[in-house]
Amino acid sequence: VDPQDIWRKDRDHFVHPWTHFDSFKQDGSLVMDRAEGAYVTDISGKRYLDGIGGLWCVNAGYGRKEIVEAIAAQAMRMPFYNPFVDTTNVPAAELSAKLASLAPGDLNKVFYTCGGSTANDTAVRIAHYYHARRGKKSKMHVISRIDAYHGSTYLTGSITGRPGDRSPYLNFLDGWIHHVSSPNFYRSEKARQEDMSEAEFCDHLVQELEDKILEIGADNVACFFAEPIMGAGGVIVPPPGYHARTLEVCKRHDVLYISDEVVTAFGRLGHFFASKDVFGIEPDMIVTAKGLTSGYQPLGACIFSDRIYDAMSAPDPDGWFTNGYTYSGHPVACAAALANIALMERDDICGHVRKMGPYLEKKLNELLDLPIVGQVRGKHFMMCVENVADKATREHLPDAANIGKRISDHCERLGLIVRPLGALNVISPPLTLTEPQIDELVGILRKGIEAAMQDLRQ
Ligand code: PLP
Repeated sequence: VDPQDIWRKDRDHFVHPWTHFDSFKQDGSLVMDRAEGAYVTDISGKRYLDGIGGLWCVNAGYGRKEIVEAIAAQAMRMPFYNPFVDTTNVPAAELSAKLASLAPGDLNKVFYTCGGSTANDTAVRIAHYYHARRGKKSKMHVISRIDAYHGSTYLTGSITGRPGDRSPYLNFLDGWIHHVSSPNFYRSEKARQEDMSEAEFCDHLVQELEDKILEIGADNVACFFAEPIMGAGGVIVPPPGYHARTLEVCKRHDVLYISDEVVTAFGRLGHFFASKDVFGIEPDMIVTAKGLTSGYQPLGACIFSDRIYDAMSAPDPDGWFTNGYTYSGHPVACAAALANIALMERDDICGHVRKMGPYLEKKLNELLDLPIVGQVRGKHFMMCVENVADKATREHLPDAANIGKRISDHCERLGLIVRPLGALNVISPPLTLTEPQIDELVGILRKGIEAAMQDLRQ
């Protein structure tokens, strides 16, 4: 294969997700070609440690024969069959039972989609249908949070609260979707101005959610979306008690609590699901994707409670639950998920993350001795480094410094992939990383930050 030829075809015909067209036309793309363990190799043969696990998803690592063989076997046996109403397939049924056994409380029902966005879209439609079936048709509004990322369909793009992602083209659901504050204590202007402690900040956030529900009218609010730790918004860990207390507010007002675990599930925080095992809550729905198959197949799932199902499944004189995709419960994707979960259990990957996560956190925290590293945050294998101009004021470097991208570019040159997000660099590696690989990752990241600092001095 001629790398130049691939590069040209890509530039001329493949419209990538989230494209900044100007820079894409200038720089083109890095063409990744092969992968093994925690490393990816580009088409020219250069190898990189994958510090982002593909895109927060290759949890079990690359080259897992068990998953590949399960995919091939299922594709050969029966690649696909209609999943609607009265037909099913073995992997979809098996996986549903497995997910019900792993999910907390009475979250025993699973609706499959092709990824995280469509699973969140489905969660809203389930919430609407659930309330309507109980005679509460006015419960249609959705509350989310600034900095949240929930996907890229029209609906989930509108629920998303990351300022840069909410383009003017997404204002079409305005009035139905509301955003309360980000739980980012480090960056909260209000907490700074009012000299709040983290506990007071949490009180404020909980009160703000309740006030928002009352302002819209509890009879009009369907659901509240929250990632246990916000991912694309900047790896934001909420103050202690935040999830339990916001869940309590939701329960009080008959608002469904939807935990978006597209990133946090399947071991990234050391457990199959973080809602219960890390944050101690049993939400009404958990949405997941990514690590469900370790990225080997596209698959999303909305896992919801028996209580919701019971209301939805009572006879409906007005119609039926009109949500579904050709590929809901795709047998090959479900077979990949089953093999992925089996190997995670066999190798105790969650246990490995609970053991190595604190080591990754400790090593990344050592970067705080660098003058531009303002904060290292996250948990276990979901981490980020926030770069600043001034540690005391937390002022950001000028946009022109393009610091996150500058650091990522240096890391790439040095053989490490980390993801730039504005002033941040995100680290979400495969969960199999060993201690020497963590040392390698943090060592290169340090050199990348130092090289970027050197550029800025020139
Ligand atoms: N929710 C969260 C928390 C995510 O991080 C993402 C993707 O990054 C999504 C939803 C959307 O998932 P997908 O890109 O598979 O549609």
